[in-house]
Amino acid sequence: MKHQLESRLTEVLSCLSSRCMESPTIQFQPVPLQGSKAASKKASGSSCPPPAFLLNAEAPILQETFQHNGMIPTLCSDYVIQWSGPNIRDAVYQSMMEWQRINHFPGSTELTRKDRLWMHFAQMAKSYGKGCFDFVPETYVLPDQFDSFLTCYQRSRCTWIVKPNASSRGRGIFLLSDLSELPLDETVVVSRYIDDPLLIQGFKFDLRVYVLVTSYDPLKAYIYREGLTRFASAPYSTKGEHIQDAFRHLTNYSINKNSESFVENSDMRADNVGHKWSLSALNKHLRCVGVDVNLMWARINDLIVKTLLSVEPSISSRTRQVTGSRENCFELYGFDVLVDNDLKPWLLEVNLSPSMQAESPLDWQIKSSLLADTFNIVGVCSNERPAPKPNDRMRASYSQPWKAAASPKKEDFPVDETHAPLVLNVLSDANLKMLAKAVGERSRCRNFVPLYPTRAAVKRYGIITEARAQQLAVPRMGPLTGANRCVSQSQMLASMLYGPFPRRSAIEVRNVGAPLEVSSQILDENLAETPENRDTSPVSLVPDLDSVLQASSPISFKDCPGPPSSPSPCPRWWILR
Ligand code: ADP
Repeated sequence: MKHQLESRLTEVLSCLSSRCMESPTIQFQPVPLQGSKAASKKASGSSCPPPAFLLNAEAPILQETFQHNGMIPTLCSDYVIQWSGPNIRDAVYQSMMEWQRINHFPGSTELTRKDRLWMHFAQMAKSYGKGCFDFVPETYVLPDQFDSFLTCYQRSRCTWIVKPNASSRGRGIFLLSDLSELPLDETVVVSRYIDDPLLIQGFKFDLRVYVLVTSYDPLKAYIYREGLTRFASAPYSTKGEHIQDAFRHLTNYSINKNSESFVENSDMRADNVGHKWSLSALNKHLRCVGVDVNLMWARINDLIVKTLLSVEPSISSRTRQVTGSRENCFELYGFDVLVDNDLKPWLLEVNLSPSMQAESPLDWQIKSSLLADTFNIVGVCSNERPAPKPNDRMRASYSQPWKAAASPKKEDFPVDETHAPLVLNVLSDANLKMLAKAVGERSRCRNFVPLYPTRAAVKRYGIITEARAQQLAVPRMGPLTGANRCVSQSQMLASMLYGPFPRRSAIEVRNVGAPLEVSSQILDENLAETPENRDTSPVSLVPDLDSVLQASSPISFKDCPGPPSSPSPCPRWWILR
């Protein structure tokens, strides 16, 4: 089985390298910490000018990442990659060539504006069952929904948190003590306050989880193995006299760094010190105190995929309308997640331009690796001449013995052994390219872990994608299909990777709420699966997280020069001085 899988992977890679990889891409390395002696990449000595980047954001680490990897800045349209703030004009997308990359999708604000995201969740809850979309605290947008809010406020005795609609970094946020505190002249979002957060040493914390989407059509998403844990700087308390104390209730770095008791992390080797930890330090700590970390991450994964699926139709249709090529856009999101005492993750918000400020060595370490890995997956054109295409574009099936290719890590590849080989000959150029791109991305994942599509995720969320396919119909082709059936790009890619998806009756698809609710209930039971039974599990997302969470698979920063990471023995943490 193992051998078969490896040889299948070799076939796929060889097939890709001979047919579909047209332009060489830059191999990004993380920028070493300032002061380190590691040399930046020299120009390749070729006659081509160095590739150019266009940077419209205040973030030295980005500039340094591009320059460290041999790129030069430009203000013109000759860039191979553009990194900008949100609200990019349609004309920018329309003028892009296929090989250019840009760090936003048109319409991404559907996900990052609190009021829009809440609206999408409400629609999903209506279609697929309330129990599946209950990971966002109940929210009202005022003044529009003032009456509904008032009814709920008077009925429930819970605490509410008020946030300006278009603000960030904790600015203007407060816990509501009295209705008279509600501003009347601006749009605010009022959410149910999660008042039983999981605490560490009595302190509230939230997670910054990085999620990369390389396409919405088909949906392709990855979670980063590393991220940040941000602590409040004063012990959590819901006592009346503490209710307005932002240092106890908000976990934003930009708020807490102003607290006298805030401790900055100053040594990247000690990533569990001070008020900002790495996610791996958090995992290590939680394991030590007996928390089921695998369960927590499986639930977080579930939350992320459902969030992306909820905005997929609107962002993909907008992207199709505005861009010339579906290859142009990618997005690195910052998901802010709060975990409560029952280990339930709550989505607080999704950041469109997560901070790329690196205010501590730990920040620098994580973000420089994150950026290098992002650009490697996305594939940034190196300006060198494309490799000549073979005259004969041979087509065959995955099982044809292609010439040997560099041996990939086997878990990087989604190849289904249970179905007959996919016959490449019958695929259209567009589908071949889609397959090539997806498998190519998997081969460059490094510290990213695929979230969607994976075999488990395709099965688990199949009911959603199938219902969608009826709206986003594209003609389904060849032997993968039954006649006259329509599939979305996501389904098409999934069926090329994992084999044909199950046919559901029209009634099943119409009654989508029930099956998904059921899967949610049994999700937790399936999380304890072992590597041996993972292939048979229909709903669990854990297999893809195993490698993130196993102590035997530590986060790899080997390309980042500096002293080797030596995690402090557990338990050993110092939030307090
Ligand atoms: P901003 O975009 O301004 O950072 P967030 O929605 O991320 O706003 O909220 C800021 C902080 O407030 C979060 O990091 C978290 O600590 C706290 N917070 C926000 N919403 C809730 C909630 N519903 N329950 C508990 N804490 C919350």
